[in-house]
Amino acid sequence: MNAAVDNQDDKTTIVPKRIAIVGSGVIGCGWAVRALAAGAEVVAYDTDVETARQRLARMIDTAWPSLEKRGLAANADRNNWRVTDDLEAAVADADLVQENVPERLELKQTVLSAIDGATAPDTLIGSSTSGIKPSELAAGCGHAPARVVVGHPFNPVYLLPLVEIVGSSATTPAVIDQAGALYRGLGMRPLVVQREIEGHIADRLMEALWREALHLVNDGVATTEEIDAAVVYGAGLRWSLMGTCLTFHLAGGEAGMRHMLEQFGPALKLPWTKLEAPELTETLIDRVVEGTAHQAAGRSVAELEARRDAFLTELLSVVEKYWPEAEGLADRI
Ligand code: NAD
Repeated sequence: MNAAVDNQDDKTTIVPKRIAIVGSGVIGCGWAVRALAAGAEVVAYDTDVETARQRLARMIDTAWPSLEKRGLAANADRNNWRVTDDLEAAVADADLVQENVPERLELKQTVLSAIDGATAPDTLIGSSTSGIKPSELAAGCGHAPARVVVGHPFNPVYLLPLVEIVGSSATTPAVIDQAGALYRGLGMRPLVVQREIEGHIADRLMEALWREALHLVNDGVATTEEIDAAVVYGAGLRWSLMGTCLTFHLAGGEAGMRHMLEQFGPALKLPWTKLEAPELTETLIDRVVEGTAHQAAGRSVAELEARRDAFLTELLSVVEKYWPEAEGLADRI
């Protein structure tokens, strides 16, 4: 397996005819736009219908030019969506229900329990949770808890292909295959996490980096801008193609990873990293907020998003060029 290949043996693809989005904020709307580009009908539910409607309309406007470049499904229709305040009606006939309410365990349990009661037992329910384990999410689902899985995406969901699929001990391989097929049908790259764990794989890694960044700011070692420069002009460029492990294999020269571990292994024992996060004091919060505002230099979030999307669209093509196994990704969107 390399960085561009999903890790499921079964590569079945099912494009959901209708997807229900529950919680239509940044991530819910991102799923909705991705699903529209794949040719699905979207029914979105939110407790704040009007804001959700405006947010989704805006996100479609922002994202569609990038998605056209990536390649739309033949039947993609950017108007094939509605937002409702009726949860049962939203989920009843969906082929896939994706939950994206705020990251609070009790709230998610309540919402997932309601979805569980309103759907057929074989309808897949995915949760976008960044860190909660599926066994905890499904604790209140008395109907068919085994089809509740984590389907953790990355922002912007409409462009980034990775989705981490995590099941609990109650989840059968058939449900994991069903999840992979449906997410593949939305043009995604499923990464099945073998065992449930808080933070899954990617957020566990990102959190470690984020904690170190906060320490560097807190200790007065670096500004937010300097930390971002260290990622953008160095490690980040390599990560987008090869990730951490294969990148370090090359760091060992001809002898590869073994030599790299011999050379840099001792450093693992040095106190380079702290990992436990610093206290979020008002001073630290101000430094991080003011630092990133300075970096934004008056540009709005919308302007920065447009720049990011244009960049990611080209970057994805470059990754596909250098990982030939990834070819065809655009065809599946
Ligand atoms: P958000 O605050 O942007 O959106 C949450 C939405 O849920 C809001 O529109 C809110 O009105 C709605 N909501 C609140 N209570 C509700 C209820 N009871 N029923 C239906 N809708 C309700 O949050 P977000 O950033 O989109 O995060 C949503 C989920 O996605 C979280 O679990 C988060 O961990 C996960 N996630 C976030 C990111 C990210 O980068 N933001 C990335 C991956 C996963």
